[in-house]
Amino acid sequence: MPPRPREKQPLPSLPALPTGNLDEQDEIITEKIPQSAYEPDNRPIEIVWKNVLVFIILHSVALYGLFVMVFSAQWLSALYTIILYQMGAFGITGGAHRLWAHRSYKAKWPLKLILVLCQTLAHQNSVIEWARDHRVHHKFQETDADPHNAKRGFFFSHMGWLLCKKHQEVKTKGKGIDLSDLYAEPLLRLQHKYFMVLMPFGCFVLPTLLPMVLWGETFVNAFCLNMFRYVFSLHATWLVNSAAHMWGSKPYDSHINPTENRFVSIFAIGEGWHNFHHTFPWDYKAAEFGNINWSLKIINFFARIGWAYDLKTVSPEMIKKRVQRTGDGSHEIWGWGDKDQTKENYESAVIINKKEE
Ligand SMILES: [Zn+2]
Ligand SMILES: [Zn+2]
Repeated sequence: MPPRPREKQPLPSLPALPTGNLDEQDEIITEKIPQSAYEPDNRPIEIVWKNVLVFIILHSVALYGLFVMVFSAQWLSALYTIILYQMGAFGITGGAHRLWAHRSYKAKWPLKLILVLCQTLAHQNSVIEWARDHRVHHKFQETDADPHNAKRGFFFSHMGWLLCKKHQEVKTKGKGIDLSDLYAEPLLRLQHKYFMVLMPFGCFVLPTLLPMVLWGETFVNAFCLNMFRYVFSLHATWLVNSAAHMWGSKPYDSHINPTENRFVSIFAIGEGWHNFHHTFPWDYKAAEFGNINWSLKIINFFARIGWAYDLKTVSPEMIKKRVQRTGDGSHEIWGWGDKDQTKENYESAVIINKKEE
């Protein structure tokens, strides 16, 4: 029998704080909440030394992999590494994230199969586990229940959260998240159940063997290149949780910490438009615009051949309302007279050499 999620229970109560996301009907009440309510508690961090050791080894081999990529690997192997990185990244962004964690579009089974294979290649736990952590992240962003609470600093939100025991609030709130839609999919149940067999083969063995068999790359080169690919893709994803929760503008909601970060979008193939994404997490584009959003281009390609459908997106009117109501004023406008130029900006502009009408 596949594991079933627990009965959905009412979430055990943290103080009645908003999650940080405002809906259209919500009042802006952030000012009334004492800032201390959002601060992380002082629990002692319990380091998991086994994970620290694993990450030290992974990073050492990956660094050597970078050296190998530049100085000794065949060019075909270097190209192959870049392509595998893109495929794994799409398994996370298009699959675990936009399709399954957020249900922002629907996919036919061939696309689901491709996404599960790519997500296994990326190895950031099974889709079900990934989506659970991510739903908790959105629902309780930047509280103690957020697995990678950015209020604990850059290192914690980047990778430190994987090197220590989870906060009790993360576990408690995680159990209250509804995952029944994910457990209802046989493909996801299968991946989850056999992950410890599928993952070593899909993420490490096969990617190392292929360049050795197909074009005669050496074992050391193929192995280290693959480790470099894996660790690089981890950091690309982690940057969304760290850098894109700290540095950048907040054109859609200035009351939350996630930001618009172009740099992160480059490495995380389109996931750096994080202020938009936390404001409208059901939008399949995870951004208002399509620039630096490789994941969007691929989903759109699959939509054209009919494998991706029911793509949800936010209407321009809704975005405009939100920008004006809660944005920080940094939303792009093309210049004087743009429909999104605020009334305040328009009326307070200094016009020099003004011609009297
Ligand atoms: Zn986030
Ligand atoms: Zn998300």
